[in-house]
Amino acid sequence: MTQRIISAPIVTPETEHFWQAAQQGRFLLRRCTACHETHWYPRAICPFCLGDTVWQEHPGAGTIYSWTVMRREAAPFAMGYVALDDGPTMLADFTGIEFDRLKIGMRVKLAWSDTVNGAKMPSFTGG
Ligand SMILES: [Zn+2]
Repeated sequence: MTQRIISAPIVTPETEHFWQAAQQGRFLLRRCTACHETHWYPRAICPFCLGDTVWQEHPGAGTIYSWTVMRREAAPFAMGYVALDDGPTMLADFTGIEFDRLKIGMRVKLAWSDTVNGAKMPSFTGG
């Protein structure tokens, strides 16, 4: 089976710490110090109330909110939105799950996929 090629992440000053932690297998989100909401993707300013934010590690478990299978590349792959437990909803690939097993509400857990430059990209596998 052909391996899916994942582009390297675009690292910015706001996300640099996230990608460094990802290399160590740590999944970090930003949490607001004012309204206490977490959000995705990492931002220095809270998108809900414009408060300051801090890094917080998340266990990476959640449920599938929606999914689709992309078949236009040489290696078909599944992606979709995952509603993180006590956290935001994020778009990511699904890996290691047979396409016909994917369903809304399915429990998933964080996995790390390799990108072309060796950086780790968050993805989700069966939980
Ligand atoms: Zn806030």
